[in-house]
Amino acid sequence: MLVYKFGGASIERPERMEALLPILSKASAPLVVVVSAMGKTTNALEAIVFAALNGQKADAHEKALALEASHRAYAETVLSPAAFQKAWQQMAETFTELQWAIDGCGERNPDYHYDQIVCTGELLSTRIFAAFLSDRGLAAQWADARDLIRTDDQFREAKVDLDYSFVQIRKTAEPLLQAGTILLTQGFIGATPDNASTTLGREGSDYSAALLAAALDAQSLTIWKDVDGLQNADPRLFDHTVKIEAITYAEVIEMAYYGAQVIHPKTIQPLQNKGIPLHVRCFLKPEASGTVIDQEASSLFYPPLIILKRNQVLLQVTTLDFSFITEENLSKLYRIFSELRLKINLLQNAAISFVACIDNDPEKLQHLIEVLRPHYRLLRNEEVTLLTVRHYTPEVVSTLTHNRHILLEQKTRHTLQCVYK
Ligand code: ASP
Ligand code: MG
Repeated sequence: MLVYKFGGASIERPERMEALLPILSKASAPLVVVVSAMGKTTNALEAIVFAALNGQKADAHEKALALEASHRAYAETVLSPAAFQKAWQQMAETFTELQWAIDGCGERNPDYHYDQIVCTGELLSTRIFAAFLSDRGLAAQWADARDLIRTDDQFREAKVDLDYSFVQIRKTAEPLLQAGTILLTQGFIGATPDNASTTLGREGSDYSAALLAAALDAQSLTIWKDVDGLQNADPRLFDHTVKIEAITYAEVIEMAYYGAQVIHPKTIQPLQNKGIPLHVRCFLKPEASGTVIDQEASSLFYPPLIILKRNQVLLQVTTLDFSFITEENLSKLYRIFSELRLKINLLQNAAISFVACIDNDPEKLQHLIEVLRPHYRLLRNEEVTLLTVRHYTPEVVSTLTHNRHILLEQKTRHTLQCVYK
């Protein structure tokens, strides 16, 4: 069997959903399909939660009505009147629950409310998509991912209980796949043992798809995107990018870790553990081969892989009393960063100082500074960029850093990183 994952862009307009039909009907094996919310729905839902949590509930309700209207119009466009009637009953229920979830905001911690509201996007998109497939003669069964993916209650970044989830996934999927029915479910969402909805972190649908693939020992997972596979750099930032035909799991993990927004970083591990290849293909050009990611490493040759992380802060932390930055100081500093959930993207330490490049999250940064200031002297550069080049060459590096003021540079055999202004 195969797992296909479709992101928000692939269903953002009714014509796009139409264009997916031939891709699905040509699949060479029984299918599990994992879908994100349509277009920018998750952002719209975030705006609803934040309004509701800020006490602007009337505004939140109004925004929810706008979302309802756009989903209704979409469903009316892609579905026959009979299929629409049926799907709308279920969608209307989801919208009622959304309005209740808005009313409930403030009762528990904000992240809990976030998940109860934000999970709506995937529930709706999959209702439309499942009805659409059945309407067009492709047998498809909608499944609630909250019955498949069990998580803890770390809302907004829930951790998946793999053993329990894998059993649930198999129990649900196997009979359907044997009957040749597509199992269609939501990415990004799960539920706690008490049935509270949870989300797995933004862009988490790729990860959900990988979990389903691993649970079912899929032949492969295909993530259908609007670009033809992975490029050696982000085509929105660079002109002459090169497509990568094949790449290893390890290399993709590194790229994601350094900030390439290619695939959700958690996606690779479940696939790697089961040796399931990951294809990244373009739904606009289904005949193109895309990129394959798997274990094979031997004969691969990579172009320089370029990753830019903008809006970074370089923070220099120096001991006040001239004490050395030793293991003791380092572990104290690490603990502070980790307690604030601040990921260090690049680190260098010297005798009495420590330099860290971190994402510019003003709230967390403020907090960090308050904690550190009594004990350390702090210097910072804001609005800097972290450049990472895997498989760098001197030419590429000199082109990329030409006319830049470099604040920090580190090289290993395969990776060059620098922070510049
Ligand atoms: N819809 C969610 C998001 O926008 C999950 C995903 O697209 O993967 O973050
Ligand atoms: Mg998405």
